[in-house]
Amino acid sequence: MGNTRKIVKTGKSTPTREGAGVHLRRAFGFNEVPELDPFLLLDDFRSQEPAHYLAGFPWHPHRGIETITYMLAGSVEHGDSMGNKGTIGPGDVQWMTAGSGIIHQEMPKGDEQGRMGGFQLWANLPSGSKMMDPRYREVKGSAIPTVAPSTGCTARIICGEINGIVGPVRDIVTDPEYLDISLEAGASFTHRTKRGHTLFAYVIEGTVNAGETPVASEHLVIFDREGREAVFSAGKGKARFLLISGKPLGEPVAWYGPIVMNTEEELELAFEEYRKGTFIKKS
Ligand code: FE
Repeated sequence: MGNTRKIVKTGKSTPTREGAGVHLRRAFGFNEVPELDPFLLLDDFRSQEPAHYLAGFPWHPHRGIETITYMLAGSVEHGDSMGNKGTIGPGDVQWMTAGSGIIHQEMPKGDEQGRMGGFQLWANLPSGSKMMDPRYREVKGSAIPTVAPSTGCTARIICGEINGIVGPVRDIVTDPEYLDISLEAGASFTHRTKRGHTLFAYVIEGTVNAGETPVASEHLVIFDREGREAVFSAGKGKARFLLISGKPLGEPVAWYGPIVMNTEEELELAFEEYRKGTFIKKS
């Protein structure tokens, strides 16, 4: 009993607009701090309407956080203040640690059917790492291991470990797990995670039972931090969900737009530096 994570909350992601007017669904954000600490935001930007995403996310700064982009369809072209350029496509992950600051743009493109999409997660950095040098981990889909932890279940391990198989993204300060779990009808999956770590799932497709609670597509389920295990199963149809955990920071959050610091003073300084052109510390 005491070993099973209890559900604290479930809820549907809500439509919103970001960047230059991109339509997306937000699973959680500003209002869920500190519930999801160290995570700040999760956006589901899957779309079949090019007019809803082509304007993209033109040049903007980030400081104090990591942004994690996981693509399922179409592509996103990326360019930044350090001169990095690249395209991430279906199955690929970009784990970007903004640290002391980057200025970048993210421009989506559809596939032949006009589909584009994936997820962007923001993870907070602890005070001692907020001003670390910016860093990128670009992971091609082919480098992400897929394991079958139980009958009818497949798991893509972006970050974390299942049955001794470790995902390609390592050495992240908040000790996260980032898993993409697919269940065939009737299949189940039990996940053990660290006590005290935040754990949530976001349903991509179908309906997932979290314990006994059915959670529909585009819904978020947040667990308590007490137990070690969470059990998921699919009913009559297949289901797919993201399962993410991380170590809470328990620090004050000063957040405005794409910059997240600990104090208002640090936040003001960041925007002042951005206006003055002294924002970038490492290029
Ligand atoms: Fe960004």
